[in-house]
Amino acid sequence: MTAPDLRPVDVLTVVTVADVTPSVRRVVLAGSADAVAAAGPTVNLLVPRVGDPDPRWPQVARDGRIVWPTGAHGIALRSYTARRQDPVAGEVEIDFVLHGDGPAAAWASAAVPGARLAVAGAGTLGERPAAQLLLVGDETALPAITRILGEADPATRGLALVEVADAAEEQPVPAPPGVTVRWLHRDGTPPGASSLLADAVAALEPFDGPEVFAWVGAESAAVRSIRADLRSRWGLGRAQHHAIGYWRLGREMGR
Ligand SMILES: Cc1cc2nc3c(=O)[nH]c(=O)nc-3n(C[C@H](O)[C@H](O)[C@H](O)COP(=O)(O)OP(=O)(O)OC[C@H]3O[C@@H](n4cnc5c(N)ncnc54)[C@H](O)[C@@H]3O)c2cc1C
Repeated sequence: MTAPDLRPVDVLTVVTVADVTPSVRRVVLAGSADAVAAAGPTVNLLVPRVGDPDPRWPQVARDGRIVWPTGAHGIALRSYTARRQDPVAGEVEIDFVLHGDGPAAAWASAAVPGARLAVAGAGTLGERPAAQLLLVGDETALPAITRILGEADPATRGLALVEVADAAEEQPVPAPPGVTVRWLHRDGTPPGASSLLADAVAALEPFDGPEVFAWVGAESAAVRSIRADLRSRWGLGRAQHHAIGYWRLGREMGR
């Protein structure tokens, strides 16, 4: 039952599942136009246990707070990125990294058409338009980087540094002609144990010119190190960068 000041979460249904690389599974979900419009660019996913035929979804209060059901419910809250949202078609596209353990990765590994998950709130990607962009991220941030570059002004210049396992994990990233996309391969080093992104940023000369914005999304320790470099050596103020830990080695990210 829904109390008067609570509303049900938006439940989305899987339409298609496709493996775009060996470790990235693209899931297209369908919902009402309003639910799809509200499901991004970053989105709080409510992920049920694999095979749960009747998840006990939480509800949402007027102020956006998630109100959890009492007792065991098996729903995990995780942050993801809508790499594409089409309210007219009623579709949201999410790329899940199949990293192994974790309710969201497990759900995506088992996802089939007809499976459901829910959405409870969304946010921005944190990017700002700028003449020059530095984008830095691993495979979990690739949907965000793809969306930022896809929506960037065609005159934008800059560099995107993307860390993935190997060449098989590279994906097409449409970008303005003045933006270079550079792939960094871990080549056997486990995710979270590489310093590729931090080293690559450390090796760059800070961009010349007034309008620079840097965006970073990756494992938390890597982000901390890159953020420190951007603030000190690059001299970027708070309004000129957005650096967020997308996951934390050895820790759950969410509830
Ligand atoms: C704003 C935002 C947007 C995001 N967008 C995306 C997205 O579009 N696609 C996407 O795949 N991820 C995205 N992430 C990252 C995702 O939320 C985390 O990877 C999350 O931990 C996955 O949840 P889980 O339930 O699978 O694992 P959890 O229960 O959170 O973690 C279980 C274990 O898995 C490990 N782990 C988690 N992620 C990884 C990984 N990538 N590689 C190796 N080990 C890992 C943890 O260290 C932990 O030991 C985003 C994160 C944020 C903050």
